[in-house]
Amino acid sequence: MARADSGAIRGGQAVPDLLIAGAGVAGLWLAVKAARAGLSVMLVERGNPGGGASGGFLGALMPHNPERWNAKKDFQFRALVDLEAEITRLEAETGQFCAYRRVGRLLPLTTERARKAALEQVPEARMNWGAGYDFDVNHASDHTRWPDILHTSHGVVRETLSARISPTGLIGALLARLAVMPGIELRFGTAVEDVSPHHRMARLTDGSSVSFGHIALANGVDAFPLIARAAGLPETSLGSAVKGQAALLDAKVDPGLPLVYDDGVYVIAHQNGHVAVGSTSERDFEDAHGTDERLEHVVARARKLCPLIKHAAVIRRWAGLRPRAVGRDPMLGPVPGAPAVLAMAGGFKISFGIAHRMADCLIAGITGIDGPETPQSFSIEWHAAKAARSSTAT
Ligand SMILES: Cc1cc2nc3c(=O)[nH]c(=O)nc-3n(C[C@H](O)[C@H](O)[C@H](O)COP(=O)(O)OP(=O)(O)OC[C@H]3O[C@@H](n4cnc5c(N)ncnc54)[C@H](O)[C@@H]3O)c2cc1C
Repeated sequence: MARADSGAIRGGQAVPDLLIAGAGVAGLWLAVKAARAGLSVMLVERGNPGGGASGGFLGALMPHNPERWNAKKDFQFRALVDLEAEITRLEAETGQFCAYRRVGRLLPLTTERARKAALEQVPEARMNWGAGYDFDVNHASDHTRWPDILHTSHGVVRETLSARISPTGLIGALLARLAVMPGIELRFGTAVEDVSPHHRMARLTDGSSVSFGHIALANGVDAFPLIARAAGLPETSLGSAVKGQAALLDAKVDPGLPLVYDDGVYVIAHQNGHVAVGSTSERDFEDAHGTDERLEHVVARARKLCPLIKHAAVIRRWAGLRPRAVGRDPMLGPVPGAPAVLAMAGGFKISFGIAHRMADCLIAGITGIDGPETPQSFSIEWHAAKAARSSTAT
């Protein structure tokens, strides 16, 4: 196992093999996977674990469309398939419950054009997903008022790959696992302020400095400027925040109901019968964490889409900032010219389904142990090239 600085002492201090910035779903999976691989880890979190975008309650685990297959879709597909076993293992290790369930998904079809496009995807799904998961076009939903018959005038796509999870359940289980793993140091309430790639040193906001073998920047939307700085690029060039608002409804529905997705609106039945509804996608916003009439609009659309929740009371409203990398794909891997600095950001709307596999890629890169291949379009070089192209175009 090629471990940079493993067990090393510098300046009288133990040097973690891996320093991780950010304890969202990305940083927590990475810490667990690193500790399983025998690396020593320091996990630094500015506030509370799960206090960023990972602190919501939607938990949809949905694949990309099966057509125009590419390395990103293949990566996500494999991640979604593997997640079930990953969760089973984590739950067995911790005794915690993540409320994971592969419930499938329904996509209502309201036009002949949409129905035709869906029918064309059926053979693509068979080819790219294999025989284990269905993707078919039915005349109507098997479930009453889920979605409403008015939304299925041209039928409904039913697929069996999608799943849902409790985000807080998963964050709690990952933390519970870390709490009992050897070689882990958790530092909450302090942030990575600056990284010196060549001295392999990070400065924290509590005034301390930490040496590292590798550092992983898994700090959500705030990772982009740190990664850009380490790569010598303009701070705003690699990614941005897209605000999303969601609501939780006290609906008492069957927790086995499939996810429903229609034109940006998600309706997700959770284990306790509550239904999560989302979400807005806002590039421009003043208040990162406030909710407003845009959410009420989403809730109204969700109630129309699934009349089962027509009268369910909203019991929570929430907003968070999704990390969206400039090239739209996740951002994963070493910073060009600074190989000890690793990016793990940009999961945007799919982080809960892929973070465990992103972590496997980074751990493979650090240890030399076999792991999944990182799609080229996830690399920082790829994103930087995209940024350069769009700045020349404007
Ligand atoms: C409304 C909404 C609905 C969503 N629904 C889904 C869904 O259904 N399925 C799905 O897969 N995804 C969904 N997402 C996206 C998903 O929540 C995010 O992609 C994911 O949480 C990002 O995880 P992360 O660990 O990269 O970032 P975060 O969860 O934001 O974690 C980053 C952490 O880093 C900390 N931090 C920041 N700066 C520093 C620093 N300098 N040093 C140390 N710590 C720092 C922050 O405090 C934070 O805790 C949704 C997002 C929103 C907003």
